Amino acid sequence: MGSVVIGVAKMRKMRADAANNPTLLQVDVERLLTSGEIAMCQQVFKNAIDYSKVRIVRGGLLGLTALTGNAMTPEGFIHLPSNEYMNTPDFSIALDAIDKHWFIHEMTHVWQYQLGTNAVWHGINQLCKGGYTSTVRTADTPKNGDLKAYATDLSGADAKKKFSEFNFEQQGRIIEFWYDACYLQKENPQRPHHQRSLQLLIYVKQILVDFLQNPSDKNLLPKS
Ligand SMILES: [Zn+2]
Repeated sequence: MGSVVIGVAKMRKMRADAANNPTLLQVDVERLLTSGEIAMCQQVFKNAIDYSKVRIVRGGLLGLTALTGNAMTPEGFIHLPSNEYMNTPDFSIALDAIDKHWFIHEMTHVWQYQLGTNAVWHGINQLCKGGYTSTVRTADTPKNGDLKAYATDLSGADAKKKFSEFNFEQQGRIIEFWYDACYLQKENPQRPHHQRSLQLLIYVKQILVDFLQNPSDKNLLPKS
């Protein structure tokens, strides 16, 4: 977990150096959002995100993305493992619907960050609690379970919770369900994630009622 902090510090320094000396900036290391990606995000986050500030970054964070094979989104930038970065120049035209709802999940972290959440702190907190290493099963997780940090029970114990009572990963997951249920009906609708998102839509809608009205409201941010 220390390496996350060091990685972020290093990234900040690299960015500051590059700003002072543009020749240090490698042109293929990051990109802006495409107009298609911004249109996707506006369906969910409206204008609560300043999309011009978002970058999709190849690698970074001391190779942590390559090590884990996961995306990481601290500080409002989405870091992708190198192969993912190269294979996905535009999430809005990705062939696999999974890439689309997954992109919206990562954009939830951008939304949290831009509204004031410290994603690095929350990430470390989850790491310490075993959120990324221990698996649990609930009614709305896949058969083989889910990592603890993400797991929800939206039709059971979590049904009456407010959006802000979910942790920052669960928020990403709820928004992901919403997006899949509402906007990806035509993309391979037999997908297990899509079917689950339809089953949970009634609960997700209730949890997101305030968010959908005003995604710029800071009271929606996760407390843990
Ligand atoms: Zn996440």
